[in-house]
Amino acid sequence: MTVTVATLGFPRIGPRRELKFALEKFWAGTMTRMELEKTAADLRRANWARQDELGADWLPSNDFSLYDHVLDTSVMLGAIPARYGGERMDPADLETYFAMARGAAGTGDCCGNAPANVTAGEMTKWFDTNYHFIVPEIESGCTLRLGHFKPLEEYREARAQGFETRPVLLGPITWLSLAKGRGVDPFDLLDDVLGHYATLLRLFAQAGAAWVQIDEPILATDLSERQRRAFTRAYAKLAGAGPKLMLTTYFGGLGDNLGLTASLPVAGLHIDLVRAPDQLGAVVESVPEDRLLSLGVVDGRNVWRTDIASLIDRLAPLAAERDLVLAPSCSLLHVPVDLALETRLDEEVRQWLAFAVQKIEELDLLKRVLNHGREVVPEELEVAEKALASRHLSARIHDPAVGVRVAGLTPAMRERGASYVERARVQADVLALPAFPTTTIGSFPQTREVRKARAEYKRGAMDEAAYGAFLRAETERAIRWQEEVGLDLLVHGEFERNDMVQYFGEKLAGFAFTVSGWVQSYGSRCVRPPILYGDVSRSAPMTVDWWRYAQDLTDKPVKGMLTGPVTILNWSFVRDDQPRDETCRQIALAIRDEVLDLEGAGCKAIQIDEAALREGLPLRRRDWQSYLDWAVDCFRLAAAGVGNGTQIHTHMCYSEFNDILPSIGKMDADVISIETARSQMELLEAFAQYRYPGAIGPGVYDIHSARVPDEDEMVALMRLAQTHLRPEQLWVNPDCGLKTRAWKEVKPAIASMVGAARKLRSKA
Ligand code: GLN
Ligand code: ZN
Repeated sequence: MTVTVATLGFPRIGPRRELKFALEKFWAGTMTRMELEKTAADLRRANWARQDELGADWLPSNDFSLYDHVLDTSVMLGAIPARYGGERMDPADLETYFAMARGAAGTGDCCGNAPANVTAGEMTKWFDTNYHFIVPEIESGCTLRLGHFKPLEEYREARAQGFETRPVLLGPITWLSLAKGRGVDPFDLLDDVLGHYATLLRLFAQAGAAWVQIDEPILATDLSERQRRAFTRAYAKLAGAGPKLMLTTYFGGLGDNLGLTASLPVAGLHIDLVRAPDQLGAVVESVPEDRLLSLGVVDGRNVWRTDIASLIDRLAPLAAERDLVLAPSCSLLHVPVDLALETRLDEEVRQWLAFAVQKIEELDLLKRVLNHGREVVPEELEVAEKALASRHLSARIHDPAVGVRVAGLTPAMRERGASYVERARVQADVLALPAFPTTTIGSFPQTREVRKARAEYKRGAMDEAAYGAFLRAETERAIRWQEEVGLDLLVHGEFERNDMVQYFGEKLAGFAFTVSGWVQSYGSRCVRPPILYGDVSRSAPMTVDWWRYAQDLTDKPVKGMLTGPVTILNWSFVRDDQPRDETCRQIALAIRDEVLDLEGAGCKAIQIDEAALREGLPLRRRDWQSYLDWAVDCFRLAAAGVGNGTQIHTHMCYSEFNDILPSIGKMDADVISIETARSQMELLEAFAQYRYPGAIGPGVYDIHSARVPDEDEMVALMRLAQTHLRPEQLWVNPDCGLKTRAWKEVKPAIASMVGAARKLRSKA
């Protein structure tokens, strides 16, 4: 029996974010399409070569994307909404592709063959990851057609370079499940979609592919009857259409979908044994013996070294009985590329870690042991075991004082002194804001100058004093401009922050940081999640000086700006040696200290961003409530220490609230700002239904697009908002922070936003 290694997908952004920089140049018009495509091809070639070299037996192709693999699939199937030109558009056209991804500020051309001024497609989280995809939109009356053969092209490209790959396709049922129908149920198009997949698979067979990896992560979620029937129908049709199918599931166990999955006539099945280690027995029992089993044993979602020794013990009996593929739990898209690029990591912490490259090495090590016995690699095994033992014992991880504090928490620490209604009355006096108060979400453009100064400071080319002076000047300019444009509740602009989580992580004990640990968030956007390895505590105020500096410049109130505990948790690589809620409480206590220090300094409005609260939701409904309960408790623990006159804001982006509103209500924030510009205030309906008591700032400016909205558009959105909520509940603000935008977009957009608020006031 043989064990082989697969990777399921490799980070596409490049070890040094080559793709990001190429894309941004291309968008800025300083790189040609040919140059962009050359960068992309170079990355693909390097990725294949690297994985091959590391011992992967099954190389993926079509795991690459210029922006997003879900969008690639939509474009491949010709699901191009009418506002981008619909069926007239050539799906291979990059302009259309990027318009769907990012919106376009163009004017179109005379014949309607180029996208005009259009909004981007809706973007949302990919399952419970921090990767965002463009939501497929299926309009009524649209005809799908196989218009773009990217998967096939990339397969052939690899082959021409001597790499035989197993192409990766996003499965039809997951694609349909993620799609939004406009006047049509996406599943009504099932047969069309299957027809196109079948054609594609036939073409793959002709091109020489023996296997195709077909990703159906939706199998790790709760499925409706319709989805289940669709699965049966789909794989009856696709299983014989071309190459063998490796049906790939991840992000959780199959649970009640195991019977369904086992019944699908595919040649192979990949399961996630990191999130759901216990499913192995049941899967082996249910799945016919002739299936090739692929076991996701190395964590594709986190950065910790694998416990190789116990995996060997666990897998050896099975490996003696049948062929096995070993793989990461999911695509390696969600972890940084290579630990070897880390030049500044503490050595003790480093040995506990494994990035994409190291994970393939781990798989290779496992493979060699299972195929040939422990004797062939004694040293590697010893290194692995020592590293693991050091993590269990390290004094850097356990801080007894933190444990004592967490153990001493009381329910009263999570309660504000009065109800929202009473607090609102006090706060109205304290803050004296007009109706439809305007504010922003916190950050202002992180311009090239800001990033350059930070880089120079980091490199040591700019000293502390010069950097501080630079940041103060930026902050002052931002305050002056906000006064001028007429905003009501100001912010200091967050110029000193590289990132809303990293900034805090760097000031808290228990976090480590990488220099190259980038992970794709969406398109060209990458994040470098902190590595939360030990007990968390705060030794000194983190934001008070910046807030005070800004507040001293103006008579208008300035918001304090913090990142909430749940978001810090969800946007970090979190230790896996204690429950997440335990770790979250430690962070909450540290943020609570900061909230109280801000209040003590005179701050009247404090925003605690929980942008990532929703994305921490477990994939299965039955697990939601327990997560929401502790997440909300942690937010309250961070926020509730303040007096009634201190206004607590929170902000959430890209959130759908319908199903979690009771919990959002329980957070008991005074003001919440949310993402709504792209979805026409749709989600306010739920707030209204739930009789959400507090104030809400529904975003009226989609900051994820370069498009500058005008005043009337924002007035119209606010009017829509008023059909759902009382005027006194409403704030006027953008969707999210403005750090990724340019001042030339922000200035007119915010001026129009303030104008819109004034118009509303005069007609209120
Ligand atoms: N305060 C942060 C900012 O404005 C919030 C960002 C976010 O929600 N992602 O950038
Ligand atoms: Zn946001």
